[in-house]
Amino acid sequence: MDAKDFSQINIAENPVLSQMLAMGHEQIVFCNDEETGLKAIISIHSTILGPSLGGTRMWMYDNEIEALNDVLRLSRGMTYKNSISNLNLGGGKAVIIGDSRKMKNRAFFKKFGEFVNSLSGKYITAEDVGISPQDMSWVSEETKYVVGLPGKSGDPSPITALGVYMGIKACAKIQFGSDSLNGKKIAVQGVGHVGEYLVGHLAKEGAEIYISDIYQETLTRVSKKYKTHVVSPDDIYDIDMDIYAPCALGATVNDETLEKLKCSIIAGAANNQLKNEIIHGKAVMEKGIIYAPDYAINAGGVINCFSEVHELSREWALTKSEEIYQTIFNIVNRSKNENLPTYKIANMIAEERIKNVGIINFTK
Ligand code: NAD
Repeated sequence: MDAKDFSQINIAENPVLSQMLAMGHEQIVFCNDEETGLKAIISIHSTILGPSLGGTRMWMYDNEIEALNDVLRLSRGMTYKNSISNLNLGGGKAVIIGDSRKMKNRAFFKKFGEFVNSLSGKYITAEDVGISPQDMSWVSEETKYVVGLPGKSGDPSPITALGVYMGIKACAKIQFGSDSLNGKKIAVQGVGHVGEYLVGHLAKEGAEIYISDIYQETLTRVSKKYKTHVVSPDDIYDIDMDIYAPCALGATVNDETLEKLKCSIIAGAANNQLKNEIIHGKAVMEKGIIYAPDYAINAGGVINCFSEVHELSREWALTKSEEIYQTIFNIVNRSKNENLPTYKIANMIAEERIKNVGIINFTK
């Protein structure tokens, strides 16, 4: 089985421990509190490189298996992201099962904070989907193992956008022979927190920018600020472009879009861009498109968290994010030399770093 291909394991038929064994997880904590209604799962994939760090996601999962599957996958992803970013952090993640619009209150998050604290720093939490800075403030009343608090390292989006911009330039250097983006046609899908900052960098360099978003107000705001062409969400895959920068949702690189995409680089902030890593990772390579692995190019957010954990300056985080240029350059170069998809090379580099520090079984 491929190192990251655990899709053949049917979680419904496997007890939790064998699932952990298959994916290499260290510890799973199931949290239940009747009084507040909190139901959460904290998953620590690896602490080999340091304490595990990853956000808490609150979502209406249909059932516990779905929640468990998500937290196992996400925490493992954090191990890879932290490793490839040369951060001394392991991979962890938490999920809270429930409706983030109805169930939130101080007692609920204080209880969650108690569970995080019971791990004595093996897991450091942060915001993710469905969680706000206010929620994390409540968590911090019970534990110091939390980052992304109001007044601390702040919004990670500018740092994430800088890293994505650097990663795009590294891909351009290899694909076009120069990392200048002047005159390059770049489509940014989603001009939210990261997308808007990215457009700012691209505009400064004189790129020809196409933007799409599902919110008209967002589009109007960004297109007033920067010289851009506005494209409807459905048409973005059809335009004549050099670079596609997905900064909205995952899985936009799939069978249908690959039929249409005319770009020669795919590099953006969105997580899980390849619908199926194995199939579409190979397909982009066969089409001659350079794909910047998402967890490597969008690591600015976790770099920001790391700077908060170690009380490092914003300048440190910005400089570290600029290093994403070299990380992406090395991945793409090695992919060309070894004739392997970039996602695979990224996984190999992340695994190698961990193997050099300790023993972890990624292949079972
Ligand atoms: P965001 O919610 O602020 O922005 C996403 C934007 O995409 C929104 O404006 C939304 O309206 C738009 N959008 C949604 N569906 C769309 C569609 N079909 N077509 C076009 N636009 C669409 O989120 P963000 O913080 O900017 O993050 C963007 C992506 O980057 C997400 O996938 C996120 O997981 C990932 N990411 C973000 C960070 C960070 O620092 N914020 C770090 C790492 C990864």
